[in-house]
Amino acid sequence: MRTLAVVGGGVIGLSVAWRAAESGWTVTLFDPAIGSGASWVAGGMLAPLSEGWPGEDEVLEFGAAALARWPRFAADLRTRTGTDVFVADRTLTVALDSADATDLRTIADWVNTREVRGAEGEPLRLLNRAGVRELEPGLSRVVRAGLLARTEPAVDNRLVVTALRAACAAAGVRFGSDRIVPCAGEEDHADPAPAPPTRSLGDLPHDRIVLAAGAASAELWPGLPVRPVKGEILRLRRRPSAPAAPVHVVRARVHGRPIYLVPRGDGIVLGATQYEAGFDTAVTVAGVRDLISDAETVFPGIGEYEFAEAIAGSRPGSPDNLPLIGYLDDRVIAATGHGRNGILGVPVTADAVLALLEGEVLPEARAADPARFGIPPSGGATSPDGSDAAGRDSTAATGQSSTAATGQSPTAAARQSSTAAARQSSTAAMFSPGGVR
Ligand SMILES: Cc1cc2nc3c(=O)[nH]c(=O)nc-3n(C[C@H](O)[C@H](O)[C@H](O)COP(=O)(O)OP(=O)(O)OC[C@H]3O[C@@H](n4cnc5c(N)ncnc54)[C@H](O)[C@@H]3O)c2cc1C
Repeated sequence: MRTLAVVGGGVIGLSVAWRAAESGWTVTLFDPAIGSGASWVAGGMLAPLSEGWPGEDEVLEFGAAALARWPRFAADLRTRTGTDVFVADRTLTVALDSADATDLRTIADWVNTREVRGAEGEPLRLLNRAGVRELEPGLSRVVRAGLLARTEPAVDNRLVVTALRAACAAAGVRFGSDRIVPCAGEEDHADPAPAPPTRSLGDLPHDRIVLAAGAASAELWPGLPVRPVKGEILRLRRRPSAPAAPVHVVRARVHGRPIYLVPRGDGIVLGATQYEAGFDTAVTVAGVRDLISDAETVFPGIGEYEFAEAIAGSRPGSPDNLPLIGYLDDRVIAATGHGRNGILGVPVTADAVLALLEGEVLPEARAADPARFGIPPSGGATSPDGSDAAGRDSTAATGQSSTAATGQSPTAAARQSSTAAARQSSTAAMFSPGGVR
C-alpha cells in the first residue's frame, strides 16, 4: 500500500488528499487547524481571463487550465458531498475612467487572441455604459465601460473547504492534528500558549509527502520562495431594505486600488487589500475604510448592507505569480505558492500532484516546476534543515527505499522544467485592473 502524508489542510492540501485517497493512496493529512488559512478568508473568484495581461502567458495558461477543470471538479464534489459550491456564473470588470477603459481593451485584445483552455470559445466581450447598466442596473453611473467574461464563475470558498473535508473523510483520509516542523526538536518553547503536538517532516514515515502549508510553507522548507501577502476582506449581509447584490462578480479599480464584489446567497463578499506585512492578520481601520468607500463608488447601495465580518489572511505569494508544484527531493512534493489564485488553482494542482505521484508531469503545470528557482539545486536535493541529501537521507529514516516502497521514483521528466531560469516578479499584473485579490 502506498502511503502519502499531506502537510496543510487548506484547499490545496485537502484536494490533493481527496484525489490521492480516491486513487488508491493511504493518506494522512496533518494540520492542527484545518481550513483556518487563506482558503477560509478568500473571495472565491475564478477569474484568470479577466486578470490576463500581455506578457503573463504562463500565469494565464495555468489559470485557464484550472478554470477548465472547475466544472468537473465541482460536479465530483457535489456527487460525493451534495454540496453545490458555485455562487456566480460570470465576471464583469468595470472601468471608471478612460485609462481603465483602455486597460480593459488591452486585456480583451490579448486574451481573445490566445488559445486558452477554459475560454470554451467564449471571447471576453467589451461593453459600453449602457451594456453594463443592462447587466447590472445597481452599479453607479460613474461606470463607463465593462469587460464581460461569460465563462468565469465564482465559488463559495468556505463551502469548498467544508465539502473537501467531507470528501476526504468519505475517501478514508486520516487526519492528524500535529503541527509539522522542519526538524525534530524545533518546538517553539518561547510561546507559553498550549501548542499542538509536533512531528518532524523528515521523520514522517510515508512514501511521499506533499507540502501544502500555504504561506507557512517556507518555514518547513527554508529557501522555498513563498512569502505571506496580507489581504483583508469583508462579508456583508443583505438587509430587506438593501438593493439586491450584483449577480455577476464585479471587479473594478478605484483610486488605483482593485476591489471586487462577489455575490453570496445572503449578501456580498467585498475584497481585498494587499500588503507585504509578514504574518500579520490583524484587520486595520484603514483597510476596512478603503474597501467600503471604494465599493460605494461602484455599487452605491452597499451602505444599506449589514456589516457581518472583517477578516484578514496570508496569501502564499511567489515571486512570479505562479505556484510551486514539483519535487523538492526524492520524497517531498511542493504544492504551494498560489498567491491570489489558490482557489482557482485547486483542480489543476490536484491533477498535477497526482501525476507527479505516478512519476508523470501534467503539461499544463510544467511552468510551475520549482526547478525554475533552482530548487532542488542541481547536484543534489535539499532537505528541510538546509543540508544536502547526503546530510539527511529521508528514506533511511524509515529503513526503506522510497523507490522500493512504491515501485516508482520521480522520473527525470518530473524534475525537468520548461523554464530553467527564475522569473522576475511581474509588475504588469499589479497594474492590471484585476491584478490584486
Ligand atoms: C483576502 C484574500 C482573498 C483571496 N481571494 C481569492 C480569490 O478570489 N480567488 C482565488 O483563487 N484565490 C483567492 N485568494 C488566495 C487563496 O485564498 C489562496 O491562494 C489559497 O487559499 C491557498 O490555499 P492553501 O491550501 O495553499 O493555503 P491555506 O488555505 O493558507 O492553508 C494552509 C494550511 O496549512 C496549515 N499549516 C500551516 N503550517 C503548518 C504546519 N507547520 N503543520 C501543519 N499544517 C500547517 C494551516 O493551518 C492551513 O490550514 C485570496 C486570499 C486572500 C487572503
